Amino acid sequence: MPTDPPIHFRGYIQMETDKSQRQKLVEQLRSRGIENPRVLAAMGSVPREKFVMEENEYEAYADCALPIDCGQTISQPFMVAVMTAAMELSGNEKVLEIGTGSGYQTAVLAELADYVVSIERHRFLSEKAAKRLDKMHYDNVRLLVGDGSMGRPDEAPFDRIMVTAASQECPPALFDQLVEGGIIVIPVGGRYSQTLEAVHKIEGQARREPILECRFVPLIGEQGW
Ligand code: SAH
Repeated sequence: MPTDPPIHFRGYIQMETDKSQRQKLVEQLRSRGIENPRVLAAMGSVPREKFVMEENEYEAYADCALPIDCGQTISQPFMVAVMTAAMELSGNEKVLEIGTGSGYQTAVLAELADYVVSIERHRFLSEKAAKRLDKMHYDNVRLLVGDGSMGRPDEAPFDRIMVTAASQECPPALFDQLVEGGIIVIPVGGRYSQTLEAVHKIEGQARREPILECRFVPLIGEQGW
């Protein structure tokens, strides 16, 4: 009669499976037009299965958004890759992220930037993300609880800002906290559908580049919904 392999051996198989699934995801992202090798490497190294709910672990590498706590969602890997690529990170940047959620996008940013400040309005999500990121030894991340639509004036300016929730327009407070030459990546539009934009600050003015149509949960706050 076949017997189960010892636990540690099963754990090893699981690790290998996750790694090969991650590699498949990277190939899929490449075939969908993500070319930046640093972004692909980061997506290939962050274990997405650790950021989803236990009952969804089996589909952690499917290219779809999944539910997390507090009625929020972890974004689809393709969207994370597109948004991260639009940030044009070289490794020296100080980044502000609004909407920590599961912390997955935070981890991808932490792989590619010098320092990441991430704000989440739900304390429960922020604390859960902090535990995960600590366990994975991301020590260049600072998680804060509050309304991120106002940014974080005492830590400004930021080289890059990413908003992972949708708003009607790019919050002026965030644009003010961006360095000259900096970029904000943000979904802008209506409550149920938006356009992902890269907003470049050039000579103090916003140059808006549409990237793709998308659908995010709303940014709730003083400069959001
Ligand atoms: N980047 C996340 C996606 C989270 S979904 C991930 O990879 O899992 C967007 C998140 O934005 C939600 O967790 C929501 O609670 C949060 N959010 C919405 N409005 C906010 C605000 N004004 N300030 C901070 N977080 C906000």
